[in-house]
Amino acid sequence: MAILLSTKAATMEDWRDALLAVDPSLDIRLFPDVGDPAGIEAAVCWTQHDMAELRRYPNLKLIVSMGAGVDHLLRPPGPPPGIPVARLKDARLTQGMAEWVLLNVLRFHRQDLEYREQQAARVWNELPAPDTHKRRVGILGLGELGGATARILRALEFPVMGWTRSPRSLDGIETFHGADGLDAMLAKTDILVCLLPLTPDTRGVINARTLALLPKGAFLINAARGGHVVAEDLLAALDSGHVAGAALDVFEPEPLPADHRFWTHPKVLVWPHAASITIPSSAAPQVVENLQRAREGRPLINLVDFTAGY
Ligand code: NDP
Repeated sequence: MAILLSTKAATMEDWRDALLAVDPSLDIRLFPDVGDPAGIEAAVCWTQHDMAELRRYPNLKLIVSMGAGVDHLLRPPGPPPGIPVARLKDARLTQGMAEWVLLNVLRFHRQDLEYREQQAARVWNELPAPDTHKRRVGILGLGELGGATARILRALEFPVMGWTRSPRSLDGIETFHGADGLDAMLAKTDILVCLLPLTPDTRGVINARTLALLPKGAFLINAARGGHVVAEDLLAALDSGHVAGAALDVFEPEPLPADHRFWTHPKVLVWPHAASITIPSSAAPQVVENLQRAREGRPLINLVDFTAGY
């Protein structure tokens, strides 16, 4: 029985080599060279794979996302009925995300946008010193990525808050949940970080209403999914100065169209969905572990809850 890999051509062989390094006996097929569909027992996929296609494999036991997000697997038509889906929980993926958020928190906190503008105009001018203890960071989502990011920012002495679906408690972090909790957190957030999964409940959560709740001059960092942000509402908030800057790694659609205003907006930092990229050698052991469990009928790890959507 074989594992089907389906991702960008550039990383397909890295994934194959990483899986073989964990278990050299694996039979790995690189999409679209599938061979006999009845021989496929697991599919390890990234965003470009068509879920309808997975219905061709009568012996499929497991689908694995090559990242932390699973919105690409759950959107219609979704995975074949009855087949479990696992996501990655990977320390190096988490580290990469914490680094990216930290990079942008510090850029905004240390007035780097203003200093770059001054440099362009050859202006030598010291701005008022920023106070870390007064720069409140609000994180949407305190899961694998949001939780680790919150802890790192807290260790740097930023006041950190976090918003979740169910009540959570994290040492040194002020937590909020549910709709009222969101509004309460936004009202005292100077840097808003989005690390939510994209679900029907979280789509469009950053919109004209919620942006208006932020204090004037707040910043946005979105590393989750483009669908969390209503782009036109964010552009209006940036144009009015209510939002002072945005670091965006994710968009809808991707790639960001060449004529999109985000590309040229002076207050927007654009990244090509590269905040944290899975390192196959780090992620491969858990994929093989899950395959073993599926073969032996043992409980799987990192399973997606279809009802919650993440
Ligand atoms: P997790 O599933 O570990 O955590 C999700 C968090 O979001 C949880 O705290 C959860 O709350 C919260 N949440 C979910 N739904 C709601 C809701 N309706 N209201 C309030 N809170 C909610 O996810 P990860 O931290 O691993 O990943 C988050 C996302 O980051 C991924 O889904 C993916 O889209 C994105 N990502 C982006 C990458 C990039 O390079 N740009 C790389 C990797 C991931 P609760 O704790 O109550 O369950």
